[in-house]
Amino acid sequence: MAVTQINCIACGNRLPVPIISNAGQLCNTCRGQGLFRKQIIITGITRMNSGNVCVSGIDPQTWNFVRPVFATGIDRDFLMQGTTQVVNHFNLVEIEFRRYKPDQTFHTEDWIINENFAPRFIKHLSNEEILNVVNRISINNLNNAIEKQDKSLFIVKARSIGRIWHEQYERLKVLINFVDADGNLYQRVPVTDLLTMAFVIYQIKNGNTDYSNQIIRQFNASPNRFVRIGLTRLWRGEHWKQVTALITIPDLFDGKSFSYYESKLGGQL
Ligand SMILES: [Zn+2]
Repeated sequence: MAVTQINCIACGNRLPVPIISNAGQLCNTCRGQGLFRKQIIITGITRMNSGNVCVSGIDPQTWNFVRPVFATGIDRDFLMQGTTQVVNHFNLVEIEFRRYKPDQTFHTEDWIINENFAPRFIKHLSNEEILNVVNRISINNLNNAIEKQDKSLFIVKARSIGRIWHEQYERLKVLINFVDADGNLYQRVPVTDLLTMAFVIYQIKNGNTDYSNQIIRQFNASPNRFVRIGLTRLWRGEHWKQVTALITIPDLFDGKSFSYYESKLGGQL
């Protein structure tokens, strides 16, 4: 399926001619520029196997997803300013970028950032602003969106969560079954969102065996419910789905961050 790029991936201006490509395209001005700063709405913070984290967000100038990356990986210090988690869900933060570095399929959202520039907190979005963002960018049918192969990040309007549970391996795994707005069922999708994981581990440690029903009940009763999905890099012949955030408005987690639960647990996940 061919995707046509009409606007510049960085500034959103119209390209001189449309270009058929799964990856975004830069206009001449953006291609030529050096370091530049952009404000990004943070939508996901996930755990990587290395112990590093993966951050993603939305560029409100173009409404594209953006995944800030740098060569050595992003460690947790990058998220924090002292004890405050600056890089947090639905915070608007300023990040300094070096250049756009997309894969040609699926992972088209990667931007190399300047790791020496600490992300600058602008503000936390109000519930109304968050609702505007997710309504603007969310999709109803995840399977159809994946078929295009031009994105690896999605906010999916959800009909319901059917099940959320944990399995203990070397490390604890949280898994989920959910149905998108078009009625497609997705099963055993790993939750890599640091907040959901920290929340679940906190509940288990505190002997709350009913956490699963509580999340399901609260999520499914919310009028605004979304599942953030990220696709993995190619691994064993597939780009695997991962849940990178559970989003409800108002917030399922009362605005708490993963670092809040981690500090209650007394250490990093
Ligand atoms: Zn441009």
